[in-house]
Amino acid sequence: MLKIYNTLTNRIEEFQPINPPEVRMYVCGPTVYDYAHIGNFRTFLFADLLRRYIKYKGYRLRHVMNITDVDDKIIARAVEQKKSLREYTDRYIQYFFEDFDALGAERPEEVLRATDHIPEMIEIIKRLGANGYTYQSEGSTYFRIAGFERYGRLSKMKFEGNVAGASERVDADEYDKENVRDFVLWKAAKPGEPSWETELGEGRPGWHIECSAMSMKSLGETFDIHAGGIDLVFPHHENEIAQSEGATGKQFVRYWVHAEFLMVEGQKMSKKLGNFFTFRDLIAKGHTPRAIRYLLLSAPHHKQLNFTLEGLRGAESTVERLNDFKRRLTELKAEEGSSPAIAELIEQSQRRFEEALDDDLNTAEALAAIHDFVRETNTAMAQGAVRAGDREALLAMIDRFDSVFNVFGEVKQELLDSEIQALIDERQAARAAKNFARADEIRNQLTAMGIILEDTKEGLRWRRK
Ligand code: AMP
Ligand code: ZN
Repeated sequence: MLKIYNTLTNRIEEFQPINPPEVRMYVCGPTVYDYAHIGNFRTFLFADLLRRYIKYKGYRLRHVMNITDVDDKIIARAVEQKKSLREYTDRYIQYFFEDFDALGAERPEEVLRATDHIPEMIEIIKRLGANGYTYQSEGSTYFRIAGFERYGRLSKMKFEGNVAGASERVDADEYDKENVRDFVLWKAAKPGEPSWETELGEGRPGWHIECSAMSMKSLGETFDIHAGGIDLVFPHHENEIAQSEGATGKQFVRYWVHAEFLMVEGQKMSKKLGNFFTFRDLIAKGHTPRAIRYLLLSAPHHKQLNFTLEGLRGAESTVERLNDFKRRLTELKAEEGSSPAIAELIEQSQRRFEEALDDDLNTAEALAAIHDFVRETNTAMAQGAVRAGDREALLAMIDRFDSVFNVFGEVKQELLDSEIQALIDERQAARAAKNFARADEIRNQLTAMGIILEDTKEGLRWRRK
């Protein structure tokens, strides 16, 4: 049974979806004003691990992620570069997914852009108005937090509901707990800024309303999991709850899950502090996506993780070792049969792996189980104790580990090269022996595998389609 820390209740709870085997999860996505840094990717890779483990447990997952393609920072940059919002953000969305894919993250079932959901946002703001939670001032619409009794419950803020009305407002998308105010739902248009003509007047959405609109549109008014980085607890998620529950009168989300920060020398990795690396910075330094992935997943999400290049080099040799292990096991020439000791090792390793992840996704412990499994299998291989049947079962176990972590690396590609060459050699030998039936058979097999043979002056060459 998966147990997970819920920020809302401040407890580790058994995970019980509303409508099993279905699980509905929303993850706050990137604000696409620049390249994402690897601190951002710590959160997205944690969401990927959560996603993969939910599926591993046999649930049917519906995972939605938004793209914040309108906010203060984006508008400032787009205006500065004289680009339309769409043109400016399209580019960074593309870069984001290039990095996301390269880091081995699975795409959510749905990715939604804020600017495609303005009518849904207006609809919620109107419902909030009808329920008495909003007021207008200078063309903008605000949420009156004093009217929402549960305000502050997620972030455990000491809020006594004593915030005064009209003078205590905040228009900025981001602000801190010391600055708690009525927040903006719809901002009046400003000259030179992008805006939408709506029933609430010409303007643009505040940051928080987009996630209420998109999550409820895709997942319903109450869903299972909402995730993001720890800095989203306040104000973003607190405000999402106020907006959604204020509109529907129903509980918005059952489990709130947050990933702790990636740190650099005691400080949060952030654009503002300038202490960040992007994925591309690290690739340019010669690091591999798989090692970056490994490093970011190596600490449990409820703990801060200190980033160092030395740590990344360590991850680099770890994933190389895992990759090498998988290759040797794949290529092992083993006798027929299987042994109970290996079956026992697999069973124990799997149990440990699952217990670790069931325990609030303790990735450090789960990886320790994998490393012990690798060590013991190595010993067994060295003793010649791994039979053909064991090898298949061990490889299947690696695939199960990897369905969650995706860090072992693909050995198929390299194997294929040698397999292809062996088939080609065999085909040449068959032709020389005038065994054309066999030669044709091999050519067909290669074609089916997407391999094209070419006769060149230098002899027979092959390439992938
Ligand atoms: P943003 O693009 O700024 O909206 O951030 C995207 C995600 O990255 C959010 O869930 C943030 O909470 C998360 N995030 C930002 N900085 C860090 C960090 N240093 N470590 C982990 N997550 C972070
Ligand atoms: Zn959000």
